[in-house]
Order: sequence, then structure tokens, then C-alpha cells
Amino acid sequence: MMRQYELVERVKSYDPGADEAMLNRAYVFSMKAHGSQKRASGDPYFAHPIEVAGILTNMKLDGSSIVTALLHDTVEDTTATLEDIEKHFGSNIARLVDGVTKLSRLELQSDGTRQAENFRKLLLAMSEDIRVLLVKLADRVHNMRTLHFIPDPHKRRRIALETMEIYAPLAERIGMNDMKDELEDLAFAQINPDARSSVMARLDFLRNQGSGLVQRIIEELRKTVEGDGVKAWVSGREKTAFSIWRKMQRKNVSFEQLSDIMAFRVVVESVEDCYRALGVIHGRYPMVPGRFKDYISTPKPNGYQSLHTGVLGPERQRIEIQIRTREMHDIAELGVAAHWTYKRGGSPTDGKQYRWLRELLDILEHAAGPEEFLEHTKLEMFQDQVFCFTPKGEVVALPRGACPVDFAYAVHSQVGDTCVGSKINGRLMPLRTQLSNGDQVEIITSKTSSPSPTWEQFVVTGKAKSRVRRFVRLKKRAEFIDLGRAILQKAFRQEGHPFTEKAIAGVLRNFKCDSTDDLYAMAGEGLVTGRDVLVAVFPGLRQQPQKPPGTVVPLARARQNKAGSGTSIPIRGLIPGMAVHYARCCHPLPGDRIVGIVTTGKGVAIHTIDCDTLENFAESPERWLDVGWDVTDEAQELVGRLNVVIANEPGSLGSLTTVIGKNLGNITNLKITNRSVEFFEMLIDVEVKDVKHLSNIIAALRANPVINSVERARG
Ligand code: MN
Repeated sequence: MMRQYELVERVKSYDPGADEAMLNRAYVFSMKAHGSQKRASGDPYFAHPIEVAGILTNMKLDGSSIVTALLHDTVEDTTATLEDIEKHFGSNIARLVDGVTKLSRLELQSDGTRQAENFRKLLLAMSEDIRVLLVKLADRVHNMRTLHFIPDPHKRRRIALETMEIYAPLAERIGMNDMKDELEDLAFAQINPDARSSVMARLDFLRNQGSGLVQRIIEELRKTVEGDGVKAWVSGREKTAFSIWRKMQRKNVSFEQLSDIMAFRVVVESVEDCYRALGVIHGRYPMVPGRFKDYISTPKPNGYQSLHTGVLGPERQRIEIQIRTREMHDIAELGVAAHWTYKRGGSPTDGKQYRWLRELLDILEHAAGPEEFLEHTKLEMFQDQVFCFTPKGEVVALPRGACPVDFAYAVHSQVGDTCVGSKINGRLMPLRTQLSNGDQVEIITSKTSSPSPTWEQFVVTGKAKSRVRRFVRLKKRAEFIDLGRAILQKAFRQEGHPFTEKAIAGVLRNFKCDSTDDLYAMAGEGLVTGRDVLVAVFPGLRQQPQKPPGTVVPLARARQNKAGSGTSIPIRGLIPGMAVHYARCCHPLPGDRIVGIVTTGKGVAIHTIDCDTLENFAESPERWLDVGWDVTDEAQELVGRLNVVIANEPGSLGSLTTVIGKNLGNITNLKITNRSVEFFEMLIDVEVKDVKHLSNIIAALRANPVINSVERARG
């Protein structure tokens, strides 16, 4: 185990400005916090955070990262709290430790390997500071190095799979190739030990055959390149067992055929030298076709740059050669961490990098010190997305701003169509709530429920939007068809003609309709009138002038129909935004006598029969529609509007609302319209079951002394 002074010295050797006192405090704090806890290996637990810190010193990370590494398990695994950390180490360190703790908790929540790609993105999105991710990766490296101590084979396998599918690609993504190689090889040893040992045995055999081979090839390559006046550092290595095995799998070749198990690196001073070295090597050794790749002019998405080629090398061995500059090399090996090193001394690379890497370099150039650089290196990736969990731990990726309805549709169309509520992290929350990263979302569904047109105002995903729109369209059409049929029936009956589907089918062509439903829908929308259709069926009626519209006729006629002559169209459970809707002027309630007014293209507005607004339609009787309440629907709560005058004195408003509440009315809106020395006049919207319910409330209010007058609002 690394001693306290050793760790501090290592950090000071590359970061002289590091806060020595804080490093010492963190070392002691962590040791005390973990106390007598033991690792599966039998080592004191405290050895783990020190090892993690050690891994990060190899990457020459700043003092804050090292302090965070020392403290990374204290909040999750000991009695220490985030407040303790903040008190002793400041808000910056507390934020970093909190970040690592959150990532560790996600790990426990998810069966991540099933949705590796989304889980990787979630980890990236949650790591607002690149150092959080680096500490987490170093944590994983050490846990993998000590994986064999864990007794449960299933647990070992699960951790190894997770490493292979999530952490190794994540390391690669931020350019930490050394870390990626180590994670993959450790995971490989766990997941497929037989394959690994056969690869290793073969490697041993080749090693013994050509002893000193790697060294001889290195020498010859160096002479070849430098003979052309290019200064070069050449190194050689065997590929990792895992990368050889993967290549065998991917290319479906046997181990014997796969001879290029050695890879050599030629590191030169400039980009021009890269291409010169390539020319010399290709001139000297036969090139293996199909192996040349130019990642300098076209870098990999993670910013990796190099020239790759394969040749039959000095001893007729197939070898792989990578040619790159010093900076490309450091970035390839250490990724993001290398930028920090380059901050002091080197110059940033000028390649066409992946956007975020370019941004990193940009920050690098303008940041005042290494500390500031890392602090501003927020991971910009996936900031336009949020990642949430299903109750089973699956990750669902959504655009930022998404709500539970979007989540429901992302899970399944059926879930979206029937969702009625949502629990976010166990709490009941409105469907329009914006989701955050890591939220666990549970959707409550009801088989009888259907999408609400109001959802369209807050859903953000295309799928949710189109499903809601489609539903509204279908539902509207169904309503228009019902309405239109009723309108036509009424028109026929009034003229004393029988109404038959067959008669309607005969005139479809006159209206350019394909089906009777199409024609009904047109009539429902008010695009054709009942009389238009009647005249089409019975052309003889054309000459007869319609009865001159009288101003009082419609009202009178509507009144006559109160007994329910059978022509009225039943109205039930209206959804806002649909074809049939309640007029906002008079707030009709079940039990009120009502009439529908057809508005071309907009459907039918339902008014109470005594609504003042109806006077506006007195001249157009063809727009009036007899409607009645469908009594089979009970659960409906509707809004009634009251016009109230109360005494202007303390407590009067309180007693008003108490009376309404006691009578089970739910106030949804309240507006003071007039105010004098003695009285307030106001409009109150109350949710009630029906007109009787509202009448009860009105009676109770009238009995109250502070209330001067109560009326239902009309028009
Ligand atoms: Mn740990």
C-alpha cells in the first residue's frame, strides 16, 4: 500500500501547485472513515481508494482528482456524509465525490449490460465533470484487478460483463486506450478463461521461437526510418490476448493464420514526418493489402489519430505498424488526461477532432491553470438527452424536456395510449413533469383510458406527438360521423321523408365522398347541411323555399323538444379539444337543458338553452342541433360558474369557500370582477357532478349571512 508521503510526493512531482495539506487530510479522513472495513481480498478496505488514487497519479491527474479518489467510497460505504466532506474539503471536492457516488448508485440500479449503449450515455451525461468519470474508471480498473478475490462466480461474471460492455468502451470513448486494454483483458480472463489461456499459450510458443525478435525488428525499423533523415522513436509490443482473440472471431481466421500479433509504433516529430516514414516503410517492405488506414486526415470519432499499415517486416513476419506524432501518441494512450499534461508545455494538436475534443482543446488554451481547465471540462456529450429507468432497471433515452407521457410512449404505444398517471422515484407526479437523468419512472395505466389532446402541449418526442394527434383525429372523426348522421336524420324527419343508408349511398358522388361515413363526417363538420343532402336525394324539393328563419323560432323549437322527441343526440364525457365541446360562456352541467351550435370545421359547441350567446345564432336555424345528456355517464366532473356578491369584510371569503367545500364542490378558478366599499363581486368556477349538485351549493350559499347574492353566470 502506498504511504501517505509517497502519494503526496508523486502528485507534487508533476503538479507542484497541488494542495499538499488537503491531500494529507484526505488520506487520513479516508483511512479513519473506512476504519476496520475489509475488502474481499482480506486487505483493509482503505487500500482500495489509495490504489485508485495511485492509478490516477500515473495519468498525472490534478490534486483535486486524487483527493476525490481517496474519498470516493466514503459517502456510499461509511458513516461519513457529503456535508462532512464539504466541511473538510470544500464544495468543489464535495461536488466531485457526490458525482462519483451517484455513478456508483446507478450501477446498482441497472442491469446495465442489457442496454449497454444507453447506459454508457447515461454515465457520460451524469458525469458533469470529466474527473468524476476518470475516478470512476480508475475505481473499476482496481476492482477488476482484484476481481478474483470475490467468491461468488455469478457476481464475478456479472462485473466482468459490465466492464466489457460498458466501462471498456467508455474508456475508449474518452481516448483512454491503456485503460481500455487493461479492462478488456481482465474481463476476458473472467468471461472466457479457456480462450484466453489458449491464446496465451500460443503467444508463449511464438515468443520462444523467435527470442529477441521484437527487439531486432525495432532496431531495423528505426534504422530504416532514420536512414531517410526522420527522427523516430520505435517501440514494439504484443497485442493483448483479448484483441487477438477478437480479431480471430471477427475475421474468422485461425491462430496460425493470424501472424501479426506484434504491433510496432513509430513516433516522429511532425505530421509531415509521419507520411515520410510511411513512404520509407512501404518502399522497403511489401505491404499487406487492405491494412492501410489514414486516421490522421480522418480521425476516429474519439479523436484518435495515426497512420496504420501492415507489412511483411524485416524477418518476413507480418507486423502491424502505427505511425504518429508524440502528441497523437500521448492522446491515444492517455486520452483526456493527456490534454492536461499538454497544458504545461506542449501544444495542442491541430487535427480535425471530434467536436467535444476540439472544445476541450479550446478550453485548454484559454484556461488559466490546470485546476480551472478540468473544472470547465464539463462533458458536453448527450446534454440534449435524458436517461431514465423503468421499474425493471432498463434505461430509456429521451430528448431533454421529455415528460412521463413521452416515457410511456417510448416504452410501448399501448402504455402511452392508456397512461393516466406517473410515479417518479416513487412519488406521484403530474404527467407534464420534466424528467431528469437517472429518474426512475413508473407509468400508471388504465385500460379504459385514452390519450388527452392536452398532452400535445407538453410532449416532446415525435412518437408521442404523432400518436396523440392521430388519436384526436380519429376520435374527432368518429364524433363528426355520429353528429352528421344525427343531423341528416333530423333534416329528413323534419321534411317527412324516411332516412335510409341506401338513399345516402346513392348520392355520395354528388359530394365527392367515398363512403357514407365520409358524408356524415362532412355534415358533422358543417361542411354540408342536412338540407343539401335532402335535396340531393329528393331533387324535387329544390324549388321549395326554406321556411323563412324567424328570430324566435330556434329557441321555441328547442324548447319544444324538451320532452326528448327522440331526435336529440346524446352527449357524454366530453374531452376538451374534440369535435363536441362545452361553450365557455355558460358552462352547461348535466341536468341543464342544452342545445348544440354547429361551427363550420370546428365541431359543435354545447350551450345551456337560456345562454345569452344563443341570440347570435337566431338567424341561422340550420346550425342548431338538438342534444341531450347521456345519463349512462356518471363519473364526469364538470365546471359550473357562479356570479357571487359578498360583503367586503374580514373572513367573508373564508366562509364562502368553506360552504362550497362542505358541499363537496371543488373551486377551480376565482376572479374578482368588481369591488366597492361594501361588496365584492366575483366569478367562481366550481367542479360539480350535475346541475342539482350546483343548485345545492347555491342554496347553501344563499343561507350564509355574508353572501349578498348568488347566481349562475350566463353568457
Ligand atoms: Mn470504489
